[in-house]
Amino acid sequence: MTVKPSLVPCRTCGREISIEAATCPSCGAPNKWIHPKIEHFLTVKDSTGVTQPFTFNYEKLKISGKTEKKVPRWILWISILLFLLLFIPIALLGTVGLAFGPIGLVAAVVVALVFRFIVQAVFAKNKTFSMDFQSNSWISNDDEFWRPVKALLTE
Ligand SMILES: [Zn+2]
Repeated sequence: MTVKPSLVPCRTCGREISIEAATCPSCGAPNKWIHPKIEHFLTVKDSTGVTQPFTFNYEKLKISGKTEKKVPRWILWISILLFLLLFIPIALLGTVGLAFGPIGLVAAVVVALVFRFIVQAVFAKNKTFSMDFQSNSWISNDDEFWRPVKALLTE
């Protein structure tokens, strides 16, 4: 368990300042202290192959990251297959001329876009993690994805 330090050295003049201080009362420099493990992590993060930006919380004892929302690939493929299974019979019920004419094509595009929107809204997920050095707790919704990050932060 890592206890939150109350005093940290100022990066500019070296004087001990409160961890909560926004600036150093002695020299006025901004308080740039972050947890040493986070600092180390940031210098070696490129080795993890994870390109997402990382963010700190206010106290700089917590680091977190998240990916863009993405639909898992297998759900995407199933969606395309489902769309084709639904659309082709419907198209073939009409005349072939209607199905593959301008109206049919516009209808197909509109239905595909609506379908895609629904799939995106229901299945798109972020992969997130958060490491809190105050309580030494690691939380993520995809340990496999964040494994190199977790290894560096919890070692
Ligand atoms: Zn200072």
